[in-house]
Amino acid sequence: MRRPLVMGNWKLHGSKASVEKLLVELMVKANEVEGVEIAVCPPLVFVGQAERLLRYSQIALGAQNIDVNRQGAFTGEVAADMLGEFGVRYVLVGHSERRAMHHENDDLVARKFEAVKAAGLIPVLCVGETQAERNNGETKDVIGHQLQAVVKRCGRKAFDNAVVAYEPVWAIGSGQAASPVDAQKVHEFIRAQVAAQDPASAQALRILYGGSVKASNAQALFMMDDVDGALVGGASLDAQEFSGIFNAAL
Ligand code: PEP
Repeated sequence: MRRPLVMGNWKLHGSKASVEKLLVELMVKANEVEGVEIAVCPPLVFVGQAERLLRYSQIALGAQNIDVNRQGAFTGEVAADMLGEFGVRYVLVGHSERRAMHHENDDLVARKFEAVKAAGLIPVLCVGETQAERNNGETKDVIGHQLQAVVKRCGRKAFDNAVVAYEPVWAIGSGQAASPVDAQKVHEFIRAQVAAQDPASAQALRILYGGSVKASNAQALFMMDDVDGALVGGASLDAQEFSGIFNAAL
């Protein structure tokens, strides 16, 4: 059985005060639930603060990005090992905002995936098609390439101890989530692609859905066989809403 995982991606939001308020509220709500793993990915500058606040909590810590290098003359970057020192467990790689706005291609994303694993952390590979690609019937092609790039770099067992998040670009921040049936079709495809490399990793792999998940639509998504949780943007900034989502995963 795969343990559901619900992760919050805070993107570029927060202040010292709001991070403290949100985490304190979430810790109270998370204490009431068992059987679902909860994680938050604050902006990097708040990771140390979050680590201190979450020390006695079951909420795991994630990061939104890393550099592929471990150290050196790379001004402004942060390495996976550094995040590991702050108790970070998960690192997002290949989020569509980084692919689009920071020009991260499949190859760079695969290198980041590899760097996260090399540091002993868990990569959360974000994949998904744009609206135009969906309209052209290219969803499977696009996602197939995104997965293949990682396999090419990390080998057949790449998805051991990793997470994949299916995030259709058209659903992110749009208020229009994929229907549970459509999400399931893509999740099933992703698992089959991974199974073609290594059936055991495919069976254990948690595949999250992301894109306009709210407390009101989460349960229907989580009822699908291959939806093992959610990656949540906007709704993760509100403790009440986010807890509604992780409670729906029970
Ligand atoms: C995201 O950016 O990862 C995301 C899923 O955003 P939202 O939930 O706001 O659509």
